[in-house]
Amino acid sequence: MFKTKDGEEIFVIDGHTHFWDGSPQNQKNVHGKQFIDCFYAYHSNLSPKEWLWPKEKFEKYDAQTMHDDLFVHGYDDMAILQSTYLSDFYKKGFNNIERNYAMKKAYPNRFIINGAFDPRDGERGLDQLRADAEKYHLKGVKLYTAEWKGDSKGYKLTDPASYRFLEEAEKLGIKNIHVHKGPTILPLNRDAFDVADVDDVATSFQNLNFIIEHCGLPRLDDFCWIATQETNVYGGLAVALPFIHTRPGYFAHVISELLFWLGEDKLLYGSDYGIWTPKWLIEKFMAFELPDDVARETGVSLSLTAKKKILGLNAARLYDVDITAQKQKLMAPLAAAS
Ligand SMILES: [Zn+2]
Repeated sequence: MFKTKDGEEIFVIDGHTHFWDGSPQNQKNVHGKQFIDCFYAYHSNLSPKEWLWPKEKFEKYDAQTMHDDLFVHGYDDMAILQSTYLSDFYKKGFNNIERNYAMKKAYPNRFIINGAFDPRDGERGLDQLRADAEKYHLKGVKLYTAEWKGDSKGYKLTDPASYRFLEEAEKLGIKNIHVHKGPTILPLNRDAFDVADVDDVATSFQNLNFIIEHCGLPRLDDFCWIATQETNVYGGLAVALPFIHTRPGYFAHVISELLFWLGEDKLLYGSDYGIWTPKWLIEKFMAFELPDDVARETGVSLSLTAKKKILGLNAARLYDVDITAQKQKLMAPLAAAS
C-alpha cells in the first residue's frame, strides 16, 4: 500500500514477479549462466546504487526475502508470480510453477500464480496445461516466444500450434495471456521477441487479454500502433519503469507514448522482481511528473488517477480482485495479532 502525502491509500498489484532459481546448481549449461548473468546486468545497470544486490542473492533468494522486499519494505499489496521454464538451460526450470506454488502456499492472500505453456510441447503440453489449470486455478499464463527448445530458437503466436494452445486456454478460463515481448536476454534472439505476431492473435481471440510485458521495447512504435487497434491488448511496464532512475527523459518519452496511444486503462505496473524492487520503483513513479514539453506535445498527463489505475486498478479488473475484500483479508492477520 502506498500512501500519498494527503493520506490517500493506493492499492498496488505487481503484475510481473519471479521466484526463480538461477543458481549454478540449477544451471544445465553455459546458457543458464549467460541468462542469469544478463538479468544481473539489467539489475546492475538500471538500479540505484543503494539497491544493488550481491550476485549470490540475485541468483537465488528465499521466499521470506521476496515476501519482505515486495510487501514489507516495498509497497506491493499483491503480486502475480509468472512461471518461466527455460528447460534447455536449467535443470529444474528457471522459475517453475511448483516453486511459485510453494510461495503462494506460504502467503496465500498475497499471490496470484500464472502458469506457462509452450506450443512446441504438443499433446503433452496441452495435458500439462489442463492439469495446471485445474490444480492452480489459473487465470493467466506467461509466454516466452524466444525460448530455445532443441533445434528451435523460438516460435510465433501465429503458429498453428499456438492457436491450439490459445483455444485450449480460452476453454479453461485462462483469459490473461502475458507475453514477454521486446527486451532480449542472452543467448535469446531479439527478433524471436518481436511484438508483430500479437496483432493477429489479439484479433482472433477476442475473449482473451494480451498483456504485453515490456511493451515490445525497443519496438515501442510497433507495439503502440497494434495496441491502439486491439481493444484486448495491454502494456506491462516491467523493464520500461526502471529507466525512470537512469534515463528519466527516456522514461517520460515511453510512458507518454503509451498514455497517448493506449491510455491509462491499459497499462499495468510490474517490478520484474528480483531484477528490481518495488520500494524505489514506486517511490520514483509516484513522484514523477511529465516534463512540460512532453505533456504539451502529447497532450497526456500522468495524473494521480492514472497512477492508481496503473499501479493496481487495471490488474484488479483483469484478475477479478475485489480490492475492498482483499484489503480486509490482508488486515485480518494484523488484527488477530494485536
Ligand atoms: Zn519478461
